Amino acid sequence: MTATSTPDDTALDAAGLVAALRETFRSGRTVPVAWRTAQLRGVRSMLTDHEGEFLAALAADLGKPATEAYATDLGFAKAEVEHALAHLDRWVKPTRVSTPLIAQPGRAWIQYEPLGVVLVIAPWNYPVQLTLGPLVGALAAGNAAVVKPSELAPATSAVLARRLPEYVDPTAVAVVEGAAAETTALLAERFDHILYTGNGRVGRIVMTAAAAHLTPVTLELGGKSPVVIDRSADLKVAATRVAWGRYLNAGQTCIAPDHALVHADVVDAFTDELRRAIRTFYGPDPRTSPDYGRIVNEHHHRRLVGYLADGEVVVGGEHDASDRYLAPTVLHGVADDAPSMTDEIFGPILPIRPVADVDEAVAFVNAREKPLALYVFADNDVVARHVVDATSSGSAAINATLLQMSVPGLPFGGVGESGTGAYHGRHSFVTFSHAKAVLRKGVRPDPALAYPPYTAFKERMLRRFL
Ligand code: NAD
Repeated sequence: MTATSTPDDTALDAAGLVAALRETFRSGRTVPVAWRTAQLRGVRSMLTDHEGEFLAALAADLGKPATEAYATDLGFAKAEVEHALAHLDRWVKPTRVSTPLIAQPGRAWIQYEPLGVVLVIAPWNYPVQLTLGPLVGALAAGNAAVVKPSELAPATSAVLARRLPEYVDPTAVAVVEGAAAETTALLAERFDHILYTGNGRVGRIVMTAAAAHLTPVTLELGGKSPVVIDRSADLKVAATRVAWGRYLNAGQTCIAPDHALVHADVVDAFTDELRRAIRTFYGPDPRTSPDYGRIVNEHHHRRLVGYLADGEVVVGGEHDASDRYLAPTVLHGVADDAPSMTDEIFGPILPIRPVADVDEAVAFVNAREKPLALYVFADNDVVARHVVDATSSGSAAINATLLQMSVPGLPFGGVGESGTGAYHGRHSFVTFSHAKAVLRKGVRPDPALAYPPYTAFKERMLRRFL
């Protein structure tokens, strides 16, 4: 995996593949709502018929416990399908807008048309959800699509490549397996939209390649999502929800709370509650818990273990490279410029950074890149709303972690360094559609007011309307 791959590093015939998909799109077969719903039902059936295969692949790739894998990967993708199936008829309807006097008599509306052939590039951490979620939007909007699952979740990638073509129109949807070389070859082609999920370094590569074709992009990136713990917070509830959000999928969640900005008065009590929550979730030895995942590969395991030296390990810290295990860990005393406070951690480590009050927390957040998510726990709504209002983040949740992404009406995306554009639910449909502006004028009357030759009277009249 390098940034210097060229399309020649792979046997993939990306040009031929995209040309074939474009031909399918041009034939018009992807446009009828019946075709779209058939594809969505196909995705749902695939997930139902081969649930065991997917769960086994997720266990092999990430040690995902079956319940967690279902809830966060398969079930989540299915919920996206159900939501699209339930609302597609309404989404495709043109939306009327009011027509100003100058265009009267006439009618104006927005009609959503598919973009063409789109590319979805997915990462490894939720390899089903983050591949199929965008695909659901692309198909609901009537596009042909290429999906490129992550090579770092190879078992899941293989199941997707094997099963998807059995359940969706293979002339309109292609799965390309592979790494940087294959993605580079795909990116050399012209797509009508690219949705990329992953890190910002590759995000820049994707955006640069897309620029050559003026292809619009949605970039779902990462970053350091803070959780602010106010003195007023119910610490037991806060710790339970933060521990769940941080240690789910062994911390490899893009919107996980990355570090905690905790009121200095409650740091010790919050830490005690975190310790209790971790023990309740995973027992005295999380390594033996069937409900605790593993780090994706040795490289990331080594990187994460390196962060343990940044401060005092007050909870967890045990690790074993042989099964990519790293215990749910809490750190105290980490300097603001230590790697775990500057890099996205993306693992089961939570540094706690004391703050004198929420304003210090707000200043801390605002001095850094805009995060993908921000969490605040407070039993005082004014304080909680202040933290949300005074900061900028892709999403925010008060007294919760991660759950904002389960609300289909909410757009899911970042801002600034954490991404651009959004999807989920109707937002996916809109992302993968062109909102075409249409005006239909009546033929009569056809007043000459706007046409030359211009006269003083015409100008007076125009100035009354414009
Ligand atoms: P990754 O390594 O799987 O990379 C993502 C995709 O980019 C893969 O399909 C990969 O093949 C491709 N890729 C890698 N190198 C490439 C190159 N040089 N050229 C072209 N394509 C290339 O995943 P990752 O980046 O390690 O994922 C983790 C990051 O993603 C974290 O920063 C995390 O926060 C972020 N993330 C964001 C979201 C979100 O929805 N916003 C979700 C999950 C993960």
